[in-house]
Amino acid sequence: MSKNSTPETVAFFDLDRTLISINSGFDYAMYELKQGRISWLQFLRATGWMSLYHLSLIDMPRVFGEAVRHYRGIHVDELREITADFFEKHVTPTIQPGARRTLEEHREKGHQLVLLTASSPYMSELAVDALDLDDWIANRFPTDERGLLRGCFERPMCYGPGKVHRARYWARRRGVDLEGAYFYTDSYTDLPMLKRVDHPRVVNPDPRLRREALRQGWPIEDWS
Ligand SMILES: [Mg+2]
Repeated sequence: MSKNSTPETVAFFDLDRTLISINSGFDYAMYELKQGRISWLQFLRATGWMSLYHLSLIDMPRVFGEAVRHYRGIHVDELREITADFFEKHVTPTIQPGARRTLEEHREKGHQLVLLTASSPYMSELAVDALDLDDWIANRFPTDERGLLRGCFERPMCYGPGKVHRARYWARRRGVDLEGAYFYTDSYTDLPMLKRVDHPRVVNPDPRLRREALRQGWPIEDWS
């Protein structure tokens, strides 16, 4: 059996603008605004940050930390419930046709399908269910003994080089070899993880990542 067809082979998938066509963080902020749970000011700050984030112009962990602080004191079950409602209405319809196709191809080869995303654990659990994935790696938000969010996140952030760190840690804990691994993403900020895997796959990429993929000779896929 070749290395690429052993059950140990892992295929990692980014969520926003890869498996789904939207940036769920932006749309979630919009949803929170409409439900009156955040103010216009908070919305503009969150979304303004997000557009900067896509241009890789900001110190993402610092900005992310400010956004996460907003949730301090909220019970994790409440956040789960809100996210489930949001996911059903706004995320499920945006699953990309190419995502289902590609996941099925990997599944048939016996690969492990793992979500690798900067989004929340609550969003990740729902995405794993909706797409029948094997596991998820995402940001984690510590709670106190009552289940109330502390308003912070575990470091390093699951973003940029942090995704490599998290993927390695995940693989070590499960005794999985990352040799022969795949990673699918749309974003230039995921360059560290793309460079770490044997099979980098670029999906409907942002302009910077498209240029980089052409330079590196990486396959570019259209999942829309
Ligand atoms: Mg993305």
